[in-house]
Amino acid sequence: MQGKIALEEHFAIPDTLQDSAGFVPGAYWDELQHRLLDIHDTRLKLMDAHGIDLMILSLNAPAVQAITDRETAIDIARRANDTLAEECARRPDRFRAFAALPMQDPDAAARELDRCVKELGFVGALVNGFSQDSLQGDGETPLYYDLPQYRPFWGEVAKLDVPFYLHPRNPLPQDARIYEGHPWLLGPTWAFAQETAVHALRLMGSGLFDEHPSLQIVLGHMGEGIPYMIWRIDHRNAWVKLPPKHPAKRKFADYFNENFHITTSGNFRTQTLIDAILELGADRIMFSTDWPFENVDHAADWFDAASVSEADRIKIGRTNASRLFKLE
Ligand code: MN
Repeated sequence: MQGKIALEEHFAIPDTLQDSAGFVPGAYWDELQHRLLDIHDTRLKLMDAHGIDLMILSLNAPAVQAITDRETAIDIARRANDTLAEECARRPDRFRAFAALPMQDPDAAARELDRCVKELGFVGALVNGFSQDSLQGDGETPLYYDLPQYRPFWGEVAKLDVPFYLHPRNPLPQDARIYEGHPWLLGPTWAFAQETAVHALRLMGSGLFDEHPSLQIVLGHMGEGIPYMIWRIDHRNAWVKLPPKHPAKRKFADYFNENFHITTSGNFRTQTLIDAILELGADRIMFSTDWPFENVDHAADWFDAASVSEADRIKIGRTNASRLFKLE
């Protein structure tokens, strides 16, 4: 398919580059570094070769979220966003931008998003899971965005009317004991999805979307497992007649269907896509590759040939993203 839009596509600045070093064996690090720092060479050639018209770019992970010093987090986010704005300005026909946000400081995060959207023309934010802040729990407490201090931030996101991409990161060591002795389960194998799915469910259960029903959250990797589990989340022990224990007023499936979108990033499997279409509908699924951690050809060759209707391919490949991010 020509004209695809892809929206989980990462780059790095020198300050954040090392955050990606552990995700590939040493022999692949030179290649990954080149892929992360490159915008206009290899990346653009791959886009041309595989029918990708536009990439919405975002900073690598965990980057800003793992910087426990607030002022440093604010500074790195601002510099990454300014760099990205300059790169996008060179090819506005091919690249758009997601803001990196210093969520350690909810007010600063809201101000930075406002600046990125209004002054730099960014189309939303991409945040790498929970944040660590030296002023809250010495940087060892994962700050999830259902916490009450983030409600004013979400009010600003709703006011700006831009989507928020909740991207994975690994759990902190004290929260990763289930993986002890099994490091292969960290990262994209399993821990990313578990971490991000729980974060998304916390947002749903917290009542955030009752307070701000217009918020739109994007999840990668075909929904981090949630499409496959959403019925069970709402129906466990259905014979026990008790009111729900969470503050949210509606079913999780209602929020998932009205406040969430998912992308195909790093999960190139037709069976999984069809399950997602059955749960969410083809209007809330968008093509993405997860470059440079996955290959553009692997994503595009799979998607272009996947057994879905051509009408759905066009929606998922382009028009859903175009509408959600107001790109036309
Ligand atoms: Mn990614």
